[in-house]
Formats: sequence, structure tokens, C-alpha cells
Amino acid sequence: MTKGFWKDGARAAFALCFDMDGDTIWMNKIQRYPGWENMLKSRSVGSYGPRKGVDRILRILKKYDLKATFFVPGSIAERYTPEVERILADGHELGHHGYLHEDSYGDTVDEQMAVIERSQKVFEKISGKRAVGFRCTSSLLTDTKKLLYNDENTLYISSDIDDEKPGFEDIDGVLTTAVRVPCRQELDDYIQTVYNHFPPIPTGLPAVMSYEDVLQNFIRELEGAIRYGNSVSTAFHPQISGTPGKSVMLEKLIEYVTTNPDIWCVPCEDIARWWLSHRKEA
Ligand SMILES: [Zn+2]
Repeated sequence: MTKGFWKDGARAAFALCFDMDGDTIWMNKIQRYPGWENMLKSRSVGSYGPRKGVDRILRILKKYDLKATFFVPGSIAERYTPEVERILADGHELGHHGYLHEDSYGDTVDEQMAVIERSQKVFEKISGKRAVGFRCTSSLLTDTKKLLYNDENTLYISSDIDDEKPGFEDIDGVLTTAVRVPCRQELDDYIQTVYNHFPPIPTGLPAVMSYEDVLQNFIRELEGAIRYGNSVSTAFHPQISGTPGKSVMLEKLIEYVTTNPDIWCVPCEDIARWWLSHRKEA
């Protein structure tokens, strides 16, 4: 293979990202149903992530000396502070992921920025610094995007999937200062490996595929990234990829990544910084 754009001549950049949602998704979904307080099983599916899954994932990452990005809602960081401290102590990146994994950040710019700020305060308290990367859990108003995506603290956004290479976000024809680090749904472990009867998740699309097939799907995506020189990031979840069976699949994927010199595997922050300083050579 010829030299690629990414560090050490790698042809693709790959960020292992784990959205440590805890029970927030389940809380948001079950609150639509009467008697939701008693739907303990649903919430526990999510709680497994910070309670158990993240430990298994951190051990695997340490074994292969890989650094990842953990997108953590502020409320989960408050409730599971020791786990977040361990993520940081192991050298991983902490990214912004809403406060309650909100389906809506509010109807006004002020409301939306308040949600963002609320989590940043939590991160500052735990880590001493604000998150520089954002994987927002709901869409933002155009004016909120203009503020957030041009804030000097905002390095990158990893929410949008309308492109496959890093680039600046285009808002009303004006490029922002933040870098887009694409996160495509082909690398979301929910979509291919989760089925929950009630509340139905994924809604209308229950599908648990063979783990071997899913692993091959993920590897095909990386082969495509190598072929086209892209950067890719995952939306894996400790509550999913951290389970015993799926963690075997995760480890096999990591074995593939760490033995392939065409792949540079680093947190989103590193991908964004590399692209910013080398983009003119692309
Ligand atoms: Zn999430």
C-alpha cells in the first residue's frame, strides 16, 4: 500500500467511540408510558453500561494499548464519577453527549446552550477541563450551531453523517471553525445487535444479527475507509459492546485494527487535530 494521509502513512483514521449513555435513553423512552417508574428492567439494560460494560471495555483497551473517546451525558458523569475518573486516568478522551441524553435541547438558543453548559460544568468539576468534542443527542437550532461550532473551545463535532471525511461544518454557506469527525450509522452497535421488546428498540426494526456477520460488517467499513482515505468513528455503547458475547466481537475488531498498519486508531480529538494541521497536504 502507498502512503496515506494519516499519521505514519496510515490510509484511514479510526476513532473507537463509546457512548456511555447509562439508563438515560431508556428513561427518555419509557417516560412516555404510564407507570414508567416500574419499568426497572428497561432502565437496567442501560445501567449495565457504566456498572459493568465500561470495566470490560477499559480492560480490553488497556490490553491493546488503545485510546478511545467516551461520550458521556453530564448526568451519567455525575452518577458514575469514579468510572469517569477511571476513563480519564487510562488516558481516554471525554466527549460531550448532552446532560440527560435529551431528545430535545430546548426551543431557544439560550435553552440549548444551557444544556450544553450544564454538562461542561460537570466535566470541569471532574476533569478540570471542558469537553472539546461534541456528539449532540438531538438536533440544534441553526443559531445554536453557529455559536457552538464557532466557539474557540469547540474542536470537533461528531454527530453528522452527511459526509465521510473530516471537514469544516457548513452553516448557511459559511464554514465553521469546528471540524466534523464523521460518525456513520454502519458503525453503531445498537442498529445491528440490539432487540428490546418493550419499549421497542430499535423502534420497528428489531434485528439481532449474527455477531460474526456484524464483525465482518464493521471490518468491511474499515476496508472501505482505507480504500477511500476516510476517517470513521464508532457509536459503540458499553451497555452493548461491553456484554460478554459482544465484547468478544469487539476484541476481534480491535485485533484487526491493531495489526493493520493502514489504520491509525486514536480518539476523535487526535483525528480532528491531525486534519486541522495537515489538511493542506490532503
Ligand atoms: Zn448516546
